Amino acid sequence: MSIAAEPLRRLVAEIFRRAGCPPEEAERVARYLVKANLTGHDSHGVIRVPRYVAWIEEGRLVPGRHVEVVLETPVIAVLDGGHGMGQTVGPEATAIGIRKAREHGLSAVALRNAGHLGRIGDFAEMAIAAGLVSIHFVNVYNSLLVAPFGGASRRFSTNPVAIGVPTGDEGPFVLDFATALVAEGKVLVAHQGGKPVPPDALVDEHGRLTNDPRALYGDAAGRYPDPTLGKGALRTFGEHKGSGLALACELLAGALTGSGVNTGGEGPVHNGMLSLFLDPQRFGVGDHFLEDVRRFVAWVKSAKPVDPVEGVLIPGDKERRTEAERLAHGIPLSEETFRAIVDTARRLGLSDGEIRELLED
Ligand code: NAD
Repeated sequence: MSIAAEPLRRLVAEIFRRAGCPPEEAERVARYLVKANLTGHDSHGVIRVPRYVAWIEEGRLVPGRHVEVVLETPVIAVLDGGHGMGQTVGPEATAIGIRKAREHGLSAVALRNAGHLGRIGDFAEMAIAAGLVSIHFVNVYNSLLVAPFGGASRRFSTNPVAIGVPTGDEGPFVLDFATALVAEGKVLVAHQGGKPVPPDALVDEHGRLTNDPRALYGDAAGRYPDPTLGKGALRTFGEHKGSGLALACELLAGALTGSGVNTGGEGPVHNGMLSLFLDPQRFGVGDHFLEDVRRFVAWVKSAKPVDPVEGVLIPGDKERRTEAERLAHGIPLSEETFRAIVDTARRLGLSDGEIRELLED
């Protein structure tokens, strides 16, 4: 099925209001989740609604919470997200980093104990809108999912990295990916009847490569699929190189932020994020920076395409293309994902009539 962005956003916002988020936060969470779907990252979109709501009910995510400053210097902020909604504490941390970098040329923001931050590229895009370069390292505390290179046991989370560079036009560079060969949510999408993951994305308990989501979720059925139940693991992308980057995420986003490294500890799952913000205006290259960036991007895109229809893209292009397409034609959702969202809405007291009304185009 396919659904337009606006009614989907309305339904999701109402679900989070009923789950206890202040209205402004409920709107924001819905906006970020639907944006993930619009940009083609269904794994980080509305498929997360039942899981976020369950986490709120279990006290593992705290609605209405804002970042607390643990330590601050002119160029450093260490912030505690207090397990608040990632769609609140993530933008708040990014706004602080942007303000400091605009004042001093660069800044480092260490965010600990953030609720699930969703699509990390959102924060790179925020920095780009302010004319800044940014680099983000993220880990997911207490979410052991990924085997290191040469191993068949879980040692990392999916640990995403994002880099944003303004280009001065509508097509900025937004590199944003999980260091796992695929994000956990993509296995969740496959588990719910969506697009299958690549054949070497997972490793089973015996060290054999597979794309069977049960390596992650096991056979048990629950209110939301539980990735701790499987006996296998995700693999990192790029063999030893991706594995090294995943390890760097644990060290920078887990250890340096104080958010915690993944050694199988206690407590709720949360994100740690180390973000660096750089103001290109302070590097003495003046307008040459944007000129060089645009010239180089054009040079890369002028490479002879392997697939003339797809063309040669830079990071960020695919998301922009998908967003334009999905704004025009709607967001594809599997029946199972849609049903799980509607069931969550009903459980929170929305009548079928109210759900229908919210979904009216
Ligand atoms: P992915 O494999 O789809 O890669 C996305 C990146 O590759 C983007 O920068 C995109 O522009 C670029 N890209 C895609 N096709 C391209 C092409 N043809 N040419 C050039 N560049 C291209 O992403 P993923 O690893 O599945 O991650 C999905 C999302 O999950 C990301 O937004 C990530 O931040 C998020 N994530 C979040 C968490 C968390 O804990 N919050 C954990 C893991 C992943």
